[in-house]
Amino acid sequence: MTFAGSGDGQSGSARAHFVLVPMMAQGHTIPMTDMARLLAEHGMQVSFITTPVNAARLEGFTADVKAAGLAVQLVELHFPTAEFGLPDGCENLDMIQSKNLFLNFMETCAALQEPLMAYLREQQRSPPSCIISDMMHWWTGDIARELGIPRLTFSGFCGFSSLVRYIIIHKNVLEHVTDDNELITIPGFPTPLELMKAKLPGTLSVPGMEQIHEKMFEEELRCDGEITNSFKELEALYIESFEQITRKKVWTVGPMCLCHRSSNTMAARGNKASMDEAQCLQWLDSRKPGSVIFVSFGSLACTTPQQLVELGMGLEASKKPFIWVIKAGPKFPEVEEWLADGFEERVKDRGMIIRGWAPQVMILWHQAIGGFVTHCGWNSTIEGICAGVPMITWPHFAEQFLNEKLVVDVLKLGVEVGVQGVPQWGSEQQEVMVTRDAVETAVNTLMGEGEATEELRMRAEECAIMARRAFDEEGSSYNNVRLLIQEMRNKTNACR
Ligand code: UDP
Repeated sequence: MTFAGSGDGQSGSARAHFVLVPMMAQGHTIPMTDMARLLAEHGMQVSFITTPVNAARLEGFTADVKAAGLAVQLVELHFPTAEFGLPDGCENLDMIQSKNLFLNFMETCAALQEPLMAYLREQQRSPPSCIISDMMHWWTGDIARELGIPRLTFSGFCGFSSLVRYIIIHKNVLEHVTDDNELITIPGFPTPLELMKAKLPGTLSVPGMEQIHEKMFEEELRCDGEITNSFKELEALYIESFEQITRKKVWTVGPMCLCHRSSNTMAARGNKASMDEAQCLQWLDSRKPGSVIFVSFGSLACTTPQQLVELGMGLEASKKPFIWVIKAGPKFPEVEEWLADGFEERVKDRGMIIRGWAPQVMILWHQAIGGFVTHCGWNSTIEGICAGVPMITWPHFAEQFLNEKLVVDVLKLGVEVGVQGVPQWGSEQQEVMVTRDAVETAVNTLMGEGEATEELRMRAEECAIMARRAFDEEGSSYNNVRLLIQEMRNKTNACR
């Protein structure tokens, strides 16, 4: 157990105690570290539940909150991998070698119920006031009920995608649809929306997951509200509709990445960067404002070797400066061979390749970045929005195709690269879904001088300003954090 800081000096009983239980996947954990910081900056006490391997990855975060004197406590619970057939140390979704182990991973998570309950019962000086847990940790519902405190869920989705997901599940939209290519109209969605079945969330088939899905959906109906890493002004229509359909309060408190005010804390988000941050900044400083395209597909997307080569060829053909984050590494020796066989030499005057973890927010927010090729994970998307850069959307799986619709059709902040077919997370598909020509065309459109591109840039700048206003003092998200704290405090006081 690590005590990271001492907070703002309020006594344990005066401030609410939030228990944050993130899913162990970087796209879910990172926004929750931002949430912990945000709540602690508002004077709250936070217990951040994690496991030993993940705690080691959170070293940068722990050091930051400690240095800032924030009352964030990292609570490490043993993750019983061996009992559920997982390899030793496999404590994060990005460590799973096959989607067939997904179920084992979820079962191991559920085994944290007892130790977490025991830990929370021990907190007599400062009993928990509220649990905020990942939607996938359905088993935290029982803990909240037993302790008589509210449970709020965090899905990591934006309002738009949360609404679609909710409609699909609770209205059984896909019940009789057998063809993955069938176009599905989302009934009751506030704006027209049609998408191929396989591009909708929840279509990942993992044997044995049905029961876990059921429990998740049940607990969703029983929870006391939802926290969303978005802001009202960005997607008010969808957030309001989501509140109406679920009859639950949705607290939009984002973009939470804006809690970072220095490049040091930005760079410490997630894993340790696989390259020297200062060198990266120096490289960016040497480039013209808005001239570099940043390419990154998050923490879980598995891009095949053939596709990576095709992407590289497209970037080269575009002749634009780029930073390209490649996760393949030693897993795909053929990509390494191809990179070494002339590509790196040919692009060395204008391309930077990062193998492994990149300090994404630090890079995105540098003035040299003029465009973002993203897989449309919601964190990346909202980070791109905050950076004020237009995007090229290249969704891979889960709700990413929905986020693409929001970015391109609704917000008009980007262009689609045009993914052909449907890649599935964890599958061994070998096809190329985006050709080098499509990459070149999209990059040249986004980084070019045309009127349409200029409009995208202006929209992106407007949205970035809107995001900052929502997050800053007296903005809608700032006020929501205060209201959330107030409500949780009232509930706690009423119970004690
Ligand atoms: N990220 C990062 N460096 C990387 C890859 C990802 O900092 O090399 C961060 C990124 O900034 C974002 C998160 O990891 O905050 C990924 O979340 P997202 O929802 O975009 O995608 P996921 O990884 O869940 O598919």
